[in-house]
Amino acid sequence: MLRPMLFAASLTLAPPALAEVPRVVTDIGPVESLTAIVMGDLGTPDRLLQPGDSPHHMALKPSQARALSGADVVIWIGPDLTPQLAGQIGTLAVSARSLPLAELPATHLLPARDTGLFPHDHDEDEHHDDHNEVHEDHAEEHDDHDDDHGHGLHDPHVWLSPENATHWLTEIADALAIADPDNAETYRANARSGADTIAKAVAEASTTLAPLNGRPLAVAHDAYQYFEDHFGLTVLGAISDAEANTPGPARLAALRDGLATDKPACLLIEPGTDPRLLNIVEGSGVPTATLDPLGTDLPQGATLYPELIADMARRIMTCAGL
Ligand SMILES: [Zn+2]
Repeated sequence: MLRPMLFAASLTLAPPALAEVPRVVTDIGPVESLTAIVMGDLGTPDRLLQPGDSPHHMALKPSQARALSGADVVIWIGPDLTPQLAGQIGTLAVSARSLPLAELPATHLLPARDTGLFPHDHDEDEHHDDHNEVHEDHAEEHDDHDDDHGHGLHDPHVWLSPENATHWLTEIADALAIADPDNAETYRANARSGADTIAKAVAEASTTLAPLNGRPLAVAHDAYQYFEDHFGLTVLGAISDAEANTPGPARLAALRDGLATDKPACLLIEPGTDPRLLNIVEGSGVPTATLDPLGTDLPQGATLYPELIADMARRIMTCAGL
């Protein structure tokens, strides 16, 4: 007698709760992870970019267009990372709530670097001044609905700042709470415990990276500035810029000279790095580590973001032989 009664009760209670959970679409793995942390057991976000897709050069496929048009909430980095996505969200996800994380006022932004070799010492306060200026300019342009969002003003790899990611958990919880007020408390509680998980991963990465002690690195794609900034790493230069453009001969020549004088302990490459670019360090004995700022080769879902931070630190240290 007891079992049928329980079954009947769950049938009555479950459907309304499920119907309330919004359909959430995200752009890249790390944003999917942060969103999955906030949604917890309530639901699973979709993700537009699949392994191997470059956010810098994406073309929307029909399946991605369908996902966007069915979305209640779109959580994405913003037009500087995926310029192609900006217009599509406006046309396909008209009624959806859009949360472009890089454009939130509290997001910490760093100016994009435009040279292959980076200046060595930097000033913390300067970053914050630059951030505010860049952000105000950007907001003005955005109001005009100009097609040119001012790309290149700041480095779009904002998720590699654990401070940004931690702050976004709260913003994501707020956006989902507006779309789904019944579950507001659950979203906020999940965001708080997610912040603790990220703090643990950051502490682990700091401990892992400590023996590096200022030893310099070089990177194939200028994607790690926020990670460098947070963990105080020294990076001598990048082969391709923050928007992953193919480097010109002048940039390559400067880099070749610079890295011959000041030899990096490790060169960070990505799964898609053009092997022809690596002849810059060929024969120099500089070891390489394959890192992926999107965490493509890690288990996907809620665990990805904290694991990405801890895992990048471990790969750098293995490469540096420490
Ligand atoms: Zn990139």
